[in-house]
Amino acid sequence: MDERRVMPTDPDAEAAQGRVALWLDPEDLRWLRHRCACDDDTPDEERDRCARVRFRASAALHKAGLEG
Ligand SMILES: [Zn+2]
Repeated sequence: MDERRVMPTDPDAEAAQGRVALWLDPEDLRWLRHRCACDDDTPDEERDRCARVRFRASAALHKAGLEG
């Protein structure tokens, strides 16, 4: 169980970091958060990207109250 406080997304702060919004259906997010094809040959940079994307998919579900 994640006890961290969920902070609302600040669109201006996200844009300042060069990020753009991506809207997905909950089922797509549930698929994405478990999607990982990394193996022993996967470069660290790609592993990090995979982890970030899956974390954000999970966080989006959590923020929307759709986890579980
Ligand atoms: Zn992966």
